[in-house]
Amino acid sequence: MTHATRVTAPRGGSTTETRILVMVGAPGAGKGTQAQRLAARLGLPSVSTGDLFRGALRDDSPLGRSVRPYLERGSLVPDEITVRVIADRLAQPDAAAGIILDGFPRTRAQAAALDALCADRRMAVLAALYIDVELDELVARLGGRQVCGAPESHSYHPRGNPPKVAGRCDVDGTPLHEREDDRPATVRARLREQLAPMYEVVDHYNGTGALCTIAGDQPIDEVTRELVRAVERRSARV
Ligand code: AMP
Repeated sequence: MTHATRVTAPRGGSTTETRILVMVGAPGAGKGTQAQRLAARLGLPSVSTGDLFRGALRDDSPLGRSVRPYLERGSLVPDEITVRVIADRLAQPDAAAGIILDGFPRTRAQAAALDALCADRRMAVLAALYIDVELDELVARLGGRQVCGAPESHSYHPRGNPPKVAGRCDVDGTPLHEREDDRPATVRARLREQLAPMYEVVDHYNGTGALCTIAGDQPIDEVTRELVRAVERRSARV
């Protein structure tokens, strides 16, 4: 597999279609880290709804003000707001060649809304990449996770994915810190609230045939290899 792996359908004629890769997984499963690795391998943009919301919070924009209470509680932002943000992002020119969605869809309604957007805009979900991690492991990973200050928040953990220099991001050198919503009380709330809808999303993509399940308790490089293989298999089939 090389950088040249195609995830977009041939251009021209009525078959033109933008392929979307959807990352599915609980908080702490490694979606963000793996989405960034896949983006580099495939030459596609990776978009995290969590990063978009945190950026809006930092800017104190109207979107930031409307999502603040949900992020602070560790609750899901209402579907209507989230779908609007993604619809705008998918309309950007850099998404035309394909895109990796990290953290969207997170509910069955969002998955259905994405299907509707795809139908309207000649896009398709090529693969829903589900990183499966046991609950106890998720709790352990979220405690101790550190992220940097960049908009796309590179993420580290002393166990399994430490930075090369303690307390500094490998990519941009900014200081690392704990995310507000990784504090123990919020972690439990996030997992309690977000796991059930995530299983519905898994079920949705199982139904459409796009689901690819990857064991997320393997070393980080092996998870990346399996994700790339899954994308290759799906690209060859459709
Ligand atoms: P993340 O960085 O993906 O863990 O997202 C951080 C927070 O942003 C989540 O706990 C939710 O409050 C919110 N969020 C991110 N993506 C979504 C989504 N697809 N639907 C609803 N809320 C979301």
